[in-house]
Amino acid sequence: MKALVARGHGDISMLEVADVPTPSKIPAGWVRVKLKAAALNRLDLFTLGGIPGITLDFPHILGADGAGVVNEVGNGVDRATVGKEVLFNPGISCYECEFCDAGEHSLCVRYRLLGEHLAGTLAEYVLVPHVNTASKPESVSWHQAAAFSLVTITSWRMMVTRADVQPDETVLIWGIGGGVSSTCLNIAKLKGAFVIATSSSDEKLNVAKEMGADVVLNHSSLDVSKEVRKITDKRGVDVVIDNVGQTTWEQSLKCLARAGRLVTCGGTTGWQLNTDVRRLFWNQFTIMGSTMGNAAEYREVVRLFGEGKLVPVVDSVVPLEDGVAAFERLESGEQMGKVVVDIS
Ligand SMILES: [Zn+2]
Repeated sequence: MKALVARGHGDISMLEVADVPTPSKIPAGWVRVKLKAAALNRLDLFTLGGIPGITLDFPHILGADGAGVVNEVGNGVDRATVGKEVLFNPGISCYECEFCDAGEHSLCVRYRLLGEHLAGTLAEYVLVPHVNTASKPESVSWHQAAAFSLVTITSWRMMVTRADVQPDETVLIWGIGGGVSSTCLNIAKLKGAFVIATSSSDEKLNVAKEMGADVVLNHSSLDVSKEVRKITDKRGVDVVIDNVGQTTWEQSLKCLARAGRLVTCGGTTGWQLNTDVRRLFWNQFTIMGSTMGNAAEYREVVRLFGEGKLVPVVDSVVPLEDGVAAFERLESGEQMGKVVVDIS
């Protein structure tokens, strides 16, 4: 089968479209999906660069997100599943540890991700556990379905399960061009919150406005914490979504109201953060980490997807043969929403 593979760790020059063996051994309880489309995440660039503690066999197929048709099943899966149109949660849990027992599948001690620990979706076929699959809503396109899962489950857990955003609250979301940030905007508006979105691109801020952002701030020309103080009459915001990390962290804390909550699922500009502990305890902030989501959260977001809510923003679609160009687009940071790879 054709696949976009990394020949080794490094930069985008390590990527190529190659012929690799089609996965033929399907584990019990798993299915093989013939992919119609896949989508990129920043995670793919981190995996390509090399993540400490994860050893890959090269060539390695990248890609966590995808959607397609089940074309073979392993032992224990009903053969009637063959032919079903599916999308899937790319986070794979053991269903045996204490966290899985508690229904917290993204806290699984043996948690793995498609494309990171396992062969990914930038290929004609991928193996996934049957329990991770969900029926593709008829109302959505293959490209939307492929773009949906990772950012939506991640954003849902951040905004709903972790931050528990309420209708009368104010939320600040950094870097609205990213997939998680734009999905957090959708969810915040679904919950009725007042949203302040930032970007360094006026074009992206215009899209954010169209998506329902109440105030947009260009963070390359404005002091965001000062603007936030002005907008909120010195009070600050209830919730900050910060996946930017090093360059925004201290500003994020300055933007929070007393008892404010900060949620992060990543740090695109760096991992080491400066926190003034006086600010933290005096204002009684809560800082929360969040990763992916559990099976119940996935069911809920797919249900909303079918209702026409939480539809991901698709930036561009590139055929698998030009998959390297898709990575160039992702790395440029110019995209607004998801970069999708067409495999049909
Ligand atoms: Zn587990």
